[in-house]
Amino acid sequence: KGKRAFIAGVADDNGYGWAIAKSLAAAGAEILVGTWVPALNIFETSLRRGKFDESRVLPDGSLMEITKIYPLDAIYDKLEDVPEDVKSNKRYSGSSKWTVQECAESVKQDFGSIDILVHSLANGPEVSKPLLETSRNGYLAALSASSYSYVSLLKHFIPLMNPGGSSLSLTYIASERIIPGYGGGMSSAKAALESDTRVLAFEAGRKHRIRVNAISAGPLRSRAAKAIGFIDTMIEYSLANAPLQKELSADEVGNTAAFLASPLASAITGAVIYVDNGLNAMGVGV
Ligand code: NAD
Repeated sequence: KGKRAFIAGVADDNGYGWAIAKSLAAAGAEILVGTWVPALNIFETSLRRGKFDESRVLPDGSLMEITKIYPLDAIYDKLEDVPEDVKSNKRYSGSSKWTVQECAESVKQDFGSIDILVHSLANGPEVSKPLLETSRNGYLAALSASSYSYVSLLKHFIPLMNPGGSSLSLTYIASERIIPGYGGGMSSAKAALESDTRVLAFEAGRKHRIRVNAISAGPLRSRAAKAIGFIDTMIEYSLANAPLQKELSADEVGNTAAFLASPLASAITGAVIYVDNGLNAMGVGV
């Protein structure tokens, strides 16, 4: 029987979440996505108007179908955690059940279970500030949106996940090497995400037979990356210095995600897999 995937962090056709959805769809999975509440309207409208039709084409010529789009704000676990000003904000008040707990409950009600959980989201309000200039609030916000959001997502979706299922997040090498420009505590957030990948692999593996991995992806010109501001420099650096001198395509990350979610990867858990044209292996720029 076909597998069902929930992918959190899809709001256009430029990012890794979209590419992962496509690779999973091409492999026969049913696709559910979680879209950040403030981005929901434009994403749904663009999808409906056919704006993404070209990028929906799968290798067999058919179009990727997204069975359902759920509103999600992964910095809130449950309704009681949402501040009044957010509840009444008009970008939020038009949707409901978008905290992590409510979203998982809705998916459970609609579909009963899932097999694959993907976390493809990050946010760091002070990402353009060096760590030395980052405020406590900015740092904690980066960790909340980019690291704890994964702990929370897995915690709430695990009860819906079929044994043998697979969970995945996206990380960046700034967690372990100095990447000036990836500030605001985002490097710290990715370090936490990678460490949590190991601990969660142990806990989810022992308790639920769920595998937990991360993909450390090379630079991609996504909406989020453009907001950081240095993405073109990083792409040029990779082109100049990586063992494979080609631009990384989001599909290459999508295909790795499909592999990791499949039985072909049945013994892989707690791993951080580089999909970066090999740039991580270099010691110097040449
Ligand atoms: P993207 O803009 O496609 O994806 C980020 C998504 O996160 C957006 O859809 C945004 O709406 C969503 N989001 C932000 N805050 C949220 C919240 N509180 N709740 C729910 N959703 C929220 O950009 P992307 O670059 O494809 O990012 C996907 C993942 O890949 C991120 O974890 C990112 O750190 C990681 N990554 C990106 C690169 C790169 O160069 N683009 C490199 C390595 C890792």
